[in-house]
Amino acid sequence: MSKYKILEQMKQPNVFILLMIIILSGTLLIFINYYTIKILNADRAYVNGESHYSKAQKEATRFIITYLYTQDKSQWTLFKKELSVPQGDGFARISMTHDGTEEEIKTGLRAGRNNEKDLDDMIWLFKNFHSVSFLRNAIVEWKKADPLIDQLATVGEEIHQKVVTEKLTPEVRDLYYKRISKLSGRLTVHQGNFSNELGKSSRIVKNYLFYANVFFILLIISSVGIYYAIMVKKLLDSKEEIEIKNKDLTIVNKELDHFVHSASHDLRSPITSLKGLIEVIRLEDDLEKIRGYLDLMDRSLIKQDQFISDIIDYSKNKRKELVIESVSLCKIIDGALDQLHYIKGAKSIAISKQLDVDYVFSDRLRLKIVINNLLSNAVKYSDDKKKAQFIAIKTYWSDGFCVIEIEDNGIGIMEQYHHNIFEMFFVTNSNTGSGLGLYIVKEAVENMNGSITVTSEIKKGSKFTVRIPQHYEG
Ligand code: ADP
Repeated sequence: MSKYKILEQMKQPNVFILLMIIILSGTLLIFINYYTIKILNADRAYVNGESHYSKAQKEATRFIITYLYTQDKSQWTLFKKELSVPQGDGFARISMTHDGTEEEIKTGLRAGRNNEKDLDDMIWLFKNFHSVSFLRNAIVEWKKADPLIDQLATVGEEIHQKVVTEKLTPEVRDLYYKRISKLSGRLTVHQGNFSNELGKSSRIVKNYLFYANVFFILLIISSVGIYYAIMVKKLLDSKEEIEIKNKDLTIVNKELDHFVHSASHDLRSPITSLKGLIEVIRLEDDLEKIRGYLDLMDRSLIKQDQFISDIIDYSKNKRKELVIESVSLCKIIDGALDQLHYIKGAKSIAISKQLDVDYVFSDRLRLKIVINNLLSNAVKYSDDKKKAQFIAIKTYWSDGFCVIEIEDNGIGIMEQYHHNIFEMFFVTNSNTGSGLGLYIVKEAVENMNGSITVTSEIKKGSKFTVRIPQHYEG
């Protein structure tokens, strides 16, 4: 993977991280909402419990005062019954503070007329949050109220004793009445404070819940948004990629059709001419003429051989991946020059070399295809009318490219054909070649991320310039 691609990927937020953020935020949201609702529910249960507490305390006060003045026994019974409500709550509070058993705590809370379904949440809130400010303040008020309830119970007991022993004088009664009223007044203050503290706490918890929800929902929405945008971009990219590949495939298909059509024709034509020549030789007795026909057959076979080797090069260039390694240009050029001796007229051409570059990092197979073809063309299209025929080969560095120049003073190419010569099966003279050579050369050069240009003048000669990169990425 290229450095550029890695950097690109690092810039894009990782899809996996985004998914993790969404999943974690969702889980946290469920968790926070669950526990906040649990806290608020327990909070509500305590407010409810407090209303039972204060209502029962007020009723008890009313019954003991009535008892004080009427000495009606039923009022005494009702007093004790109502007083057992705040006493139950007080018992539960002490049990929760001193790690009492769950059953003990629940017995107290039940006596406090709390709803059976709220008991677990009430115990859970007390045990886990008793030292957190919002609950701590309420508990302080509760703690202050419970001794007053005990005092009320003691006063009630004293009154009852006085009633039973008939020692209740009007003065004593008034004194008790004052004590009871004072106790009731103080209890009302603590009960009010208890409710206020719980109300405050539920508002704080509600606010926290709201902000937590807004934060996590925004986080989820933005992560989903980014995730969606990345996915859409990936989809569009892959769509674009598929379209480009489709176009490439269409071009390759057309090329293949053209190739199969022309190749089948070019492969058959030498066979037809060989067959014809064999027929002619059969009827010929003149040895000289037969030799001439054999020369023709030989040329036909050489051309066929060249064509088949072109097809093999074409296939190799198409199929094989680029293999970048250290390659000696001098060795490739010398190898190609050795092959040239077999081409007619090669011996009368002077070959000069100025190889400033030998080793390059490039693809050996493709460099061989390029150099072999260009050199064999330089010989094939030499001009035997010229006395001093030459081929000049140069290699040198230029602007980060290795340049390979092959120049000849051959027959040259008419200007109007300078572009066509790189097309598949384009030939100016159908007798000399298949028209595949330069097409394969161009493809091979482009596969190496290089370029090829030609300058040529008819009857003067041609110069082919190949440029291949000095470095390959990745
Ligand atoms: P071929 O196998 O026929 O040589 P190429 O693709 O190699 O096919 O070349 C295409 C045409 O380009 C040739 O028919 C020829 O006319 C022209 N050509 C190529 N190289 C040279 C050259 N060095 N000098 C003159 N003409 C050339």
